[in-house]
Amino acid sequence: MGGRQTGRRRQRLRLVVVPRLHLALVAASLLAIAAGVAYARHLATVSWTIQATVSGKVVVIDPGHGGDDPGTLGVDGVLEKDVTLPIAQRLREVCGSHAVYALLTRSKDASVAEGIWDPGRRRDELQARADLANRWRADVFISVHANSFPESYWHGAQTFHYPGDQRSRRLALAIQQQLVKRHLTPDYREALPGRYYVLHQVQAPAVLVEVGFLSNPQESRNLQDPAYQRRLADAIFAGLVDFWLAERRSPDQAGMTEPRYEYP
Ligand SMILES: [Zn+2]
Repeated sequence: MGGRQTGRRRQRLRLVVVPRLHLALVAASLLAIAAGVAYARHLATVSWTIQATVSGKVVVIDPGHGGDDPGTLGVDGVLEKDVTLPIAQRLREVCGSHAVYALLTRSKDASVAEGIWDPGRRRDELQARADLANRWRADVFISVHANSFPESYWHGAQTFHYPGDQRSRRLALAIQQQLVKRHLTPDYREALPGRYYVLHQVQAPAVLVEVGFLSNPQESRNLQDPAYQRRLADAIFAGLVDFWLAERRSPDQAGMTEPRYEYP
């Protein structure tokens, strides 16, 4: 008898519990669908905003050195000019896939200025690159370089802007933030001012990205790896998007403090 009663109670319980569970599942599913739709709409809005902000922009990318000017020499014998070019090319690819018009100051292993290159004409070479950016009406100029230091343990990418130029500084900060976020540089490495001639001569916001240290064996290997080069290009592009979105929101973004010291 006791068993039958328990059975009936169980049955009653099941009658009550099952629909509730069923309702809960239906509600959860509906919620999930609603959340999914909202999220998809959000993504669409975000990507539309990004696309509307970046499309048609002109980015001039400057692969450092080239031709008779090798740049710095890596621990494994790689030359800076042979690392900066593929990274610049990958950045151009990333820009192109987002309808951003990207131009390179050089697309082969050669100098940009007319005539024979020699170290005494370094300034002419830099001027020729800046002239191209100005002639092409660049919205942004990005010079790609690789670093070197006597001690091999230094590593990480770093972005520089000309001192006193606030738009360039915001661009440098945005790119550096992405490099840190994507673990392409330690978080203590900040965007810094640097008195680079080429940056001074470009009218658009201009930065120089030292993509890493060729004096560090691991980083030198990374910088020659297409997958790592692509990660760098993605990070730089993400920084560009952040910069343009911020400019769209508030063109004269204030409240940023100056970095503590200047790069020589
Ligand atoms: Zn260089």
